[in-house]
Amino acid sequence: MTLVSICVPCFNEEKTAPVFYNEILKVFKGKDDLDFEIIFVDDGSKDDTFKVIKDLSKKDERLKYIKFSRNFGKEAAIYAGLKNSKGDYIVTMDADLQDPPALLPEMIDYMESGYDSVATRRVTRKGEPILRSLFSKLFYKIINRLSDVYIVDGARDYRMMSRAMTDSVLSLTEYNRFSKGIFSWVGFETKYLEFENIEREEGESSWSFLKLLKYSIEGIVSFSTSLLSISTILGIILSVISIIFIFVIIIQHLIGNDSVPGWASTVCSVLFIGGVQLFCIGLLGLYLSRTYLETKKRPIYISKEEKL
Ligand code: UDP
Ligand code: MG
Repeated sequence: MTLVSICVPCFNEEKTAPVFYNEILKVFKGKDDLDFEIIFVDDGSKDDTFKVIKDLSKKDERLKYIKFSRNFGKEAAIYAGLKNSKGDYIVTMDADLQDPPALLPEMIDYMESGYDSVATRRVTRKGEPILRSLFSKLFYKIINRLSDVYIVDGARDYRMMSRAMTDSVLSLTEYNRFSKGIFSWVGFETKYLEFENIEREEGESSWSFLKLLKYSIEGIVSFSTSLLSISTILGIILSVISIIFIFVIIIQHLIGNDSVPGWASTVCSVLFIGGVQLFCIGLLGLYLSRTYLETKKRPIYISKEEKL
């Protein structure tokens, strides 16, 4: 008997959780060699998500839950789910059915044929605001150029992993988690399945533009230190330019050609250099703040109530 653990982060999913459960039941119906467990992680929902999950789990032994003491974010919820999973194959997927459960049997087939992981990517972004798609594209371009790990464009967090890979993912205990990077960093052989974007079943996406921007910065800073060298490179380029300018000014002075220069250009260059300096100090701050948080060794999540 193969046990499949399904880890589901839930934030305000009172409407979708029961629908999700029914879909999973449908997928596993009649599959005698497969068993499943669902680990719902209530990430500090403001609605009745926890009550809904608890009621469901009273009816079905295979449903487990963890309730966080507050909202710790999706990454922490995924970590909690993985940590408490007992299965041979472990899946992470959203509660809103944007990750189609119908793909599960195919994923299991690939796992049985020897892959360590089966991941998914969206090939369309149908139903998503254009600006958001544009920024996502830009994000993947930047992160893949800068960092050591390769992140597939449109990759979702919907993924099935072997026990060995899950344990490796769990061995990375950093506080600032960027799962897409972590999955890629641990290696292992991954098969990508493609599907078309599906709109949310109920409720609204909890990702505001600002939240996504923060998430992207997290991704880049967590897996690349090359931003730090941008400051050095910019610094060198600007120094060279200013040295050339000094020579030009001296020569102009010697040949008696120094008409009163416009103050605008002076102010411009002062502002420009000031801006570059602030930008570079900001970059240093980004890394420093991460280092600061990591040295505190805070737990990734705090659970208030659980049934496992
Ligand atoms: N989620 C979470 N904590 C959060 C935000 C989201 O656990 O702080 C969960 C949410 O319940 C859902 C999944 O993460 O199961 C994806 O969230 P959402 O559908 O809002 O994101 P999108 O599909 O738009 O990327
Ligand atoms: Mg969603």
